[in-house]
Amino acid sequence: MTASKAMGVLAKPGDTIGILGGGQLGRMLAMAAGELGLDVHIFTPEIDSPASRVARKTWVAPFDDRDALREFAASISVATIEFENVPVDAVDLIEDEGVPVRPNGLTLARAQDRLAEKSFFRDIGIEPAPFARVDKPDEIEPTLAGLGGSGVLKSRFSGYDGKGQVRLQGKIAPYPAWAEIGTTKAVMEAWIEHDREISVIAARSAEGEFVAYDPPENDHSGGILRRSVFPSSASPAIIEEAKRLAKKLADELDYVGVLALELFLTKDGRLLANEFAPRVHNSGHWTQDACFTGQFEQHIRAVCGWPLGNAARHSDGEMINLLGEDANAWERHLADGAKLHLYGKRRAVSGRKMGHVTRLKPRS
Ligand code: ATP
Ligand code: MG
Repeated sequence: MTASKAMGVLAKPGDTIGILGGGQLGRMLAMAAGELGLDVHIFTPEIDSPASRVARKTWVAPFDDRDALREFAASISVATIEFENVPVDAVDLIEDEGVPVRPNGLTLARAQDRLAEKSFFRDIGIEPAPFARVDKPDEIEPTLAGLGGSGVLKSRFSGYDGKGQVRLQGKIAPYPAWAEIGTTKAVMEAWIEHDREISVIAARSAEGEFVAYDPPENDHSGGILRRSVFPSSASPAIIEEAKRLAKKLADELDYVGVLALELFLTKDGRLLANEFAPRVHNSGHWTQDACFTGQFEQHIRAVCGWPLGNAARHSDGEMINLLGEDANAWERHLADGAKLHLYGKRRAVSGRKMGHVTRLKPRS
């Protein structure tokens, strides 16, 4: 049995939880952990990261620094991750030191490779957008034809916020497309003319307890999430089915913590899986303001082996990402009654997630 399967309480108030990664998700996880009386240690290669500035201690080291990882492991009771591309070797080393990591390395490996992820969906009966493996530029045109002539080429590894993707339609130039995604391993997906995108944010405990938030509806542009509206206006049957798929995924992974399942709702009323994130998710940020237990607290509870909280929503509303310069208008957001969250990033690069605002209204 791996350490991550061990049951029971892994950290109590006063103990220290470790977070691998130093971005805004780590920052909000650390703040939620602090609320629950836990101390937080961060491990990240980034100096002056958003998470490190709200944590007790930070190890600034690359993820292959085994000595630093061992020292970090010795200082914590349990660990989690805030982005899915933490190298599996780093997670395995921490577990080998006797410290459980939730979610575990196997789950991360599945989420890190789009091909493995989509194959896994299919294997467990969750239908993904039609996809095919692409290993060289010569395969692009025939693969696209096989997928109906409209698709998107995605790098298998390390994409986020729509990076490492190129939309393909009509007359295409395979070599520039291959160069644009900058990889030697890719997957192509059929382009799904969807009616809307929804996501299920859900939590599962080590005992198999499962809770799902009501799915929000997500607007993307340029591959980046701009806005989540909650709840989605999809039919009750679709919402039920979306939650069922998320439970299926969490159970099959023997997952512990919060995960997100991104789904397309097609024009003919089918749900197709886009991807899953083995972590708290941008489209779930509103839960910290609109639900009795937000996703960050929920994740900490699950990771520590505590009972899950009430995921019910007390308010409706919308969450809007503040990208790049948007965050300069922080005073206006404070004044107009929105709930403002800023990540403390030092530089407002265009398209960079700097913060978000949540606007609430009474639940209808
Ligand atoms: P993130 O990290 O924000 O989730 P990502 O880089 O992992 O993004 P995807 O989720 O694969 O990227 O794609 C980003 C967005 O691009 C999707 O939410 C969707 O709006 C659009 N998109 C991606 N694949 C498809 C597809 N096959 N058909 C239609 N739209 C798509
Ligand atoms: Mg996505």
